[in-house]
Amino acid sequence: MPHMSDGARSPDLADRVGTGDLHALRGRLIGGLVLPGDPEWDDARRAWNLAVDQRPVAIALVESVEDVVKVVEFAGEHGLRIAPQGTGHGASALAALDGTILVKTSRLRGVEIDAGAARARIQAGALWEDVVVPAAEQGFVVLHGSSPDVGVVGYTLGGGMGWLARSRGLAANSVTAVELVTSEGKFVRLDSENEPDLFWAVRGGGGSFGVVTAIELELYPTPELYAGAMFWPLERAGEVLRSWREWTETVPHEVTSVGRILHFPPLPDVPEPMRGQSFVIVEAVFVGSEADGNALVAQLRELDPAMDTFAAVAPTALQHLHMDPPHPVPGVGDGLFLERLPDEAIGAFVQNAVPPLISLEIRQLGGAMASSAQHHGAVGTLDAGYVMFAVGMAPNPEIAAAVHEAVDRVKAGLAPWESARTYFNFAERPVGGSRLYPLKTYTFQRLRKIRATHDPAEMFVSNHPIPPAIVIDTARIASAPLFADLPAAELEALAGAMGEAEVDPGTEVVTVDESGSTVYLIEAGEAEVIGAGGPLSVAVGPGDTFGEIGLLLTAGKRTATVVARTPMKLLALSEPDFERILGQIPEFERSLRSLGLERSSR
Ligand SMILES: Cc1cc2nc3c(=O)[nH]c(=O)nc-3n(C[C@H](O)[C@H](O)[C@H](O)COP(=O)(O)OP(=O)(O)OC[C@H]3O[C@@H](n4cnc5c(N)ncnc54)[C@H](O)[C@@H]3O)c2cc1C
Repeated sequence: MPHMSDGARSPDLADRVGTGDLHALRGRLIGGLVLPGDPEWDDARRAWNLAVDQRPVAIALVESVEDVVKVVEFAGEHGLRIAPQGTGHGASALAALDGTILVKTSRLRGVEIDAGAARARIQAGALWEDVVVPAAEQGFVVLHGSSPDVGVVGYTLGGGMGWLARSRGLAANSVTAVELVTSEGKFVRLDSENEPDLFWAVRGGGGSFGVVTAIELELYPTPELYAGAMFWPLERAGEVLRSWREWTETVPHEVTSVGRILHFPPLPDVPEPMRGQSFVIVEAVFVGSEADGNALVAQLRELDPAMDTFAAVAPTALQHLHMDPPHPVPGVGDGLFLERLPDEAIGAFVQNAVPPLISLEIRQLGGAMASSAQHHGAVGTLDAGYVMFAVGMAPNPEIAAAVHEAVDRVKAGLAPWESARTYFNFAERPVGGSRLYPLKTYTFQRLRKIRATHDPAEMFVSNHPIPPAIVIDTARIASAPLFADLPAAELEALAGAMGEAEVDPGTEVVTVDESGSTVYLIEAGEAEVIGAGGPLSVAVGPGDTFGEIGLLLTAGKRTATVVARTPMKLLALSEPDFERILGQIPEFERSLRSLGLERSSR
């Protein structure tokens, strides 16, 4: 087991919750509560991703909704946080779990198929294989991903992109209801009629809003399926991936495909012809007949693959097409969206697709993932052309560091074609929430407001958390000494702007320039460029976290709010970012000059 320890409790926690309290909670649960020192402690705190070292206060192995309610109430009473977890496939992007009870749903694996209504009700701990098989037996397919043992709930709350994604869309947009326990310990059923805001938020907003106890998904009648993979020697990677890319530009939405490079590890559970070998591979699923499928892949067959498994298949076969590891592994990976995939991007991808990375894949997006609909959740649509994910094994911290660097090299090589947005489920490192959504300002701010309503104290710990919106009023701003002397009109403008940008009242009024523009530099949380008429841009910098905000007021009226999306000073913005801001807010440069600051290129 890599880098795990006994997870001793921190002293501040001992003040908040005594061992006696935790033992009392244990006695109240139908399921189990595992505490540090218990013999099963290390097993219980292990995530599917074995490279992640989880050290919560306690692990609740919940077996009922009542268990979840009791654990949430206990956390509320003792100032603890709750991290819901199904499998731990997504554990690498979780924050530290100190002061947190890890709520494992793995004992809640019930699945009910309602063939008449074409719906499945799936308990929170179910894996995709728990659903795919009974659904297929009743003549249905579900929108699962590449791996049979990924959790249905975690996958779906983050979007959920599977083999039918171009024909049927993201799994999150096929959710018909969610059962959830809120931070107040209230059990609610969310659907389009009941708590529609929260229902919208969880479908793409991740685990920030409550503990999901069950999810209801639409089932689709099983279509004819033609699927498989073609393998070529690694030396042909550039040529094959370029041909695959050209092919993707011609195929209908019924085809979902992946171009990848795979360095099979020399492990005994890898089948003999592949063990220790490297290949360039095209995997695809076509929703249609064998004859039509054969015609569609003919162009790829002309490339004379060394192995070709394409055939008419049963829906259960799709779970194994991607050859994901069948058991927990220690992994380090990350992904990005690509606007386009020109030959140069393929060149950069191939050049960096080397060990210690094991699998590097590019999936084609578009089709149903790109078409919006009124009923969609917060994930909305994915508008990039492709998505890339690279991963390697990380059995110890030294190798993990090398894999991180290798992933960084792949990402840097593809940076010229990267989208501003990134995919929730393929972001295995923490990402600023606003990068995960379409119409970022609107979606992200709406998610923040919903979080503020339902979990203002941030009880829930999730990967890619949504920070609650901050309510700002003039009284609150006026109470900050630096703003105390502002005229009422300016206070109001400031409150309005800060509310829109959702930042804390700041610390410093910098200057009022000769033209009446006031520039405030404010220690801030997160925001974007917001003009008087609404959002001006989705991003002004390349980073993930936010640093400072400049609020421009002209004659007491806000003209714009500018935020650097990196921890750097606005005044040290890179040239392209500076130009971008300037394009949106012409007064920006003048305001800086009025501060006695010169623009300098880097
Ligand atoms: C091998 C592998 C293959 C993958 N293939 C795909 C793929 O094809 N398509 C795709 O889109 N993604 C894929 N993913 C990414 C995967 O969807 C995410 O890692 C997802 O978060 C996993 O969900 P989980 O429940 O298994 O993991 P967990 O780590 O248990 O959960 C991830 C997060 O989901 C939230 N969550 C889980 N359960 C609950 C709950 N009951 N209540 C509230 N919040 C909850 C929590 O915030 C949690 O931190 C893959 C990942 C791996 C490792």
